[in-house]
Amino acid sequence: MIEATATPETQAPASEAIIRAEKIEKYYAQPSENRIQVISATDLEIVPGEILALLGPSGSGKSTMLRMLTGLSRPSAGQVYWHGKPISEAQINVSIVFQSFALFPWLTVLENVEAPLQARGVEPEERRERSLRMLDTVGLDGFQAAYPKELSGGMRQRVGFARALVVEPEVLFMDEPFSALDVLTAENLRSELLELWSKKTMPTRAVFIVTHNIEEAVLLADRIIVLGRNPGHIRTDFRVPLPQPRDRKSQAFTQLVDYIYKVLTRPDIAPAEAPTQPDGRKVRDQRQMRYQMLPHARPGGVAGLLELLVDKGGRDDIYRLADDLAFEIDDLLPIVDAAQLLGFLTVEEGDAAITESGTEFANSEILRQKELFREAATGNVLLLRQIVRALESKSDHTVPEDFFLDMLDEQFSDEESLRQLETAINWGRYAELFDFDAARRRFFLPEEEEEEEAEASGGGE
Ligand code: ADP
Ligand code: MG
Repeated sequence: MIEATATPETQAPASEAIIRAEKIEKYYAQPSENRIQVISATDLEIVPGEILALLGPSGSGKSTMLRMLTGLSRPSAGQVYWHGKPISEAQINVSIVFQSFALFPWLTVLENVEAPLQARGVEPEERRERSLRMLDTVGLDGFQAAYPKELSGGMRQRVGFARALVVEPEVLFMDEPFSALDVLTAENLRSELLELWSKKTMPTRAVFIVTHNIEEAVLLADRIIVLGRNPGHIRTDFRVPLPQPRDRKSQAFTQLVDYIYKVLTRPDIAPAEAPTQPDGRKVRDQRQMRYQMLPHARPGGVAGLLELLVDKGGRDDIYRLADDLAFEIDDLLPIVDAAQLLGFLTVEEGDAAITESGTEFANSEILRQKELFREAATGNVLLLRQIVRALESKSDHTVPEDFFLDMLDEQFSDEESLRQLETAINWGRYAELFDFDAARRRFFLPEEEEEEEAEASGGGE
C-alpha cells in the first residue's frame, strides 16, 4: 500500500538541475584484459530545494557516484554538468563532509574552518569573522582554540560541518557523515542539520547525502535514490511524502522503511547482453559472471537468523528482523543473501521465509548443522566446489591462495577477490571442507595434512 503514496520509480524534477549526470559510468582497469564495471550508465539530477539521499549496501558504488558528481573523479563514460556546463570547465561551488572527519590535526578548530576560505583567497579579517560565525551556528563557540584530538567524534564532525558550510556551498555533499558516531550523537547532529536546513540558516540550495542506513534516509531526505550493485545502478528513485519533523514510530515511516527493504531484496533483472566497450572488449558485468558474489556473512550469523525466523513462525518482514536485531542493512542483508544462496530461506516482497532445509538446519545440533551447511555450500557455491576439487586432485592436498586469487581477479577487484576468499575460508572451515594456513597462505585438506606432517617429519615441502 505504500507504493500508492510513495510512487516509486523516477519522477521528473520540478526545477532546473544544479548538477545533472548523463549516462555516467565508471570502470576500473584490472591486471587481466577485463575491466570491472562499478557503475553502469546512470542519469541523475540534483535540483534546488531538496535533500537527496543516495542509499545502498556497501560496495554498491555510492562513494564512487559522489566523487563523479563533485568532479573529484572523472566518469569513464558520460558527462556531469554544473548548471548546464561540463563540470570540468565550470566554476563549481560544493563542499563535502566525509565519514572520517578529515581535519588537519596540526590546526586549531578555528584554523581548520578557515582553511577552505584561505584556499579561496578570502582576506584574513573576513575569514576569521565568517569562521567564528559558523562555529557559533554549529554549536562550537568556545572551542575555536582547541585541537581536533581534544574533541569527541561528535564535536569533530561539527567542525567538519562548519568547514563545509563556511564557504556557503550551493550543494552540500556528505558521505556517510554520521556512521562513525555513536547512536545518540548521530541522532543529535541529524536533527541539528535538519534545523539549519529548514530554517535556511545555511545558504545551501541542495543537500546530497550518501548513506547505507535506511532510517537515516527516511528521516532526512525529500527524495531517495536506492542503488543496487554489481554494477551500481539505480533501483528506484522516489519522493518521501512525509512532513518534517518525522516520527520513526509512525506507521507511514515504518511502511516506507519496509518498502525500501522490499526494493533492496527484490532480485534484479539481468540485462539482455553484456555491454561492449568501444574497443570491442567486454565490460564485465557481475550479473553474468561465472562466480556468484559470496555475501560476506558468517555461518554463525546465518544460523542465528534462521533460529530467529523459526521463533517467529518461519516468516517475517526483513525490516522487522533488522529492528529486532538492531542491525543495519549492511549487517543483515549479507546474512539474508547467504541464507538465500544456501537454499535456507527465500525472500519475497521484503519478507524472509524459511525453507524446509532451513528449518531442519535451525532445529539441528551443531554437528548436524555443519553437515547440512556442507551439503548446501558444496551444492550451491561454485567457488567452494572448486577449492575442494583442486585440493583433492593435488597429491599433497594443498594449493596456494594465489591459485584461486588468479581465478577470482578475472572478475572481481583485487580487494574484493581477497574478501571473497576470506568468506570462502570462513565457510569452508565451518563446514570442515578444508582449512587454510595463514602463515603459508595455502589451502589444505585437514586430515591429509596431519598424516603428511607425521610422514614428512624429515622432508621439506
Ligand atoms: P560504497 O561507497 O557504496 O561502499 P564504493 O563506491 O566505495 O562503494 O565502491 C564500489 C565498488 O567499486 C566496490 O566494489 C569497490 O571495491 C570498487 N572500487 C572502488 N574504487 C576502486 C578502485 N580504485 N579500483 C578498483 N575497484 C574499486
Ligand atoms: Mg562509500
